Parts: sequence; C-alpha cells; structure tokens
Amino acid sequence: MKSNNKIRLTFALVLLVSLSVLVGFALHGIANENDGHEPQWGYEGGTGPLHWGGMEQDHDKHLLCRDGVRQSPIDIGKVLGFESLRLQSHYFETPVQIIRNSHTVLLKYEQGSYIEWGDEVFELIQFHFHHPSEHRVSGRSYPMEIHFVHKTESQEYVIIGVLVKFGSYNPHVQKVWDLIPDEIDKETIYENTRLRANHFLPSSKKYFHYAGSLTTPPCTENVTWLVLEEPIEISEKQLAQFQKYIDHNARPIQKPHHRIVVKLK
Ligand SMILES: [Zn+2]
Repeated sequence: MKSNNKIRLTFALVLLVSLSVLVGFALHGIANENDGHEPQWGYEGGTGPLHWGGMEQDHDKHLLCRDGVRQSPIDIGKVLGFESLRLQSHYFETPVQIIRNSHTVLLKYEQGSYIEWGDEVFELIQFHFHHPSEHRVSGRSYPMEIHFVHKTESQEYVIIGVLVKFGSYNPHVQKVWDLIPDEIDKETIYENTRLRANHFLPSSKKYFHYAGSLTTPPCTENVTWLVLEEPIEISEKQLAQFQKYIDHNARPIQKPHHRIVVKLK
C-alpha cells in the first residue's frame, strides 16, 4: 500500500512536471506568435540594406530592393544629356508636423504646396533627412541629404534631393532640430510654429534628373529623381545634433544598369 502510494505520487509529480513543461511551451509559442511580426529593416547588420530584399513586411517581400534595375541612390557621374524643363517651387508655410521614427526625421506638409516642373505640377507631401547623403556626385558624398517628396496623380513620386555640405550654421535646420520629439514614432503637431520648406532649398534650381526608386523598402521603382546641383549648408555641430537621434541612415549606392542622368541646360 505504501509503495503504491509512492508510485501514485511519483506519477502525479511526473504528470505535473510534464504538464507545466507543455503549458510553458504553449505559452512560449503564443508569445512568439504575438511578437512574431518580421524584424524591422534598418541600416546595420542583419537587417541592413544588403538584406532588405529578403525581408518581409506586412506580407510584402521587398524583392525590388534586391532584384530591381532602377534602384536609388546612385553616384551621379557622367551627364549624358540635357533638358530644358524649368523647376520652380511653390512651398507655403505650414504648421510643424514632425515625427521621428527609427529611420529618419520627417516633416509632413499641409496640402497646397507644390513644384512646377515644365508644365506639370506635383504636390509636396513631406520632407525628411538622411545622413550621410544617399546620392553622390562624381564619387563625392555629403554629410546630409534632404528629400522633398511629391506625389503624382498616378501615385508615383517626384523627389527633390538637396545635398547638404558643412559650412555656416543654418537657423532653419536648427528650428527643426529643436522640435525633434523625444518619443519615437509619435507625431507632434505645433499649431503655432510654422515653417516653409523653401528655406531648405538652395537658390539655384539646377538639377540632375534620372529614373529611380524609393531608397527605403519596398524600394518601389516609381520615382523621378531631381537632385539639385547646389548644396545648402549646416554646421558640423548641427550634424552632431541630428546624430544624437539618428546615427546613420543612408542606403549604399546602387548599380546604374542602363540608366542615364540628364541635367538642366
Ligand atoms: Zn529619403
């Protein structure tokens, strides 16, 4: 009787241990499933640009990042043609709507600001910052690049790239830096603080033009790039301030394949 009890007790213990192990596995499984969304793409290591093509986000594989043939950025080297479409900006003041995510600092733009390029018009939707520059010009990289993103009626993009070199302190850039939210992924709207994107453009609107892609996943090849020839300036101290939030967020140079770059005559 005694030994029977002992066996029963041992059996119960074994059962209990097995059950808790099973429950443990099950809970672990559930936990894994819950935070099982794909790792976020980034700029370093295993989630960096070399791996974007194999990564998935919202069931969308970023294959173009790997297999595309008109990817951006590029090194703007030889200019193989000229064009005469004049570029003009009509950017108006907008309340500051700023968001810092893990990839950039971005300012949304209220409706009504646009560029005129030749006889076409494209609406500005946002602008954001990269460090170092994504595009190069004849091999030269710059400390920063600003992207002014315009949407076309056919859901494509015209993006103006403004290169930024070291030079004098830039009060307009400082105004943005001073408003970068501490909290990540949280949009902050300052109704009473306004800014004008025009202040971030150089005086000359001479540009390089080529057909490319988004420089972030999903690397969609629906972007007309206009990279301005004349850079604007910020101080080294100002770059360091940006780096406190974003250390580096530039995709490496992509192959040109058979694309050509033309320039405003
Ligand atoms: Zn960009």
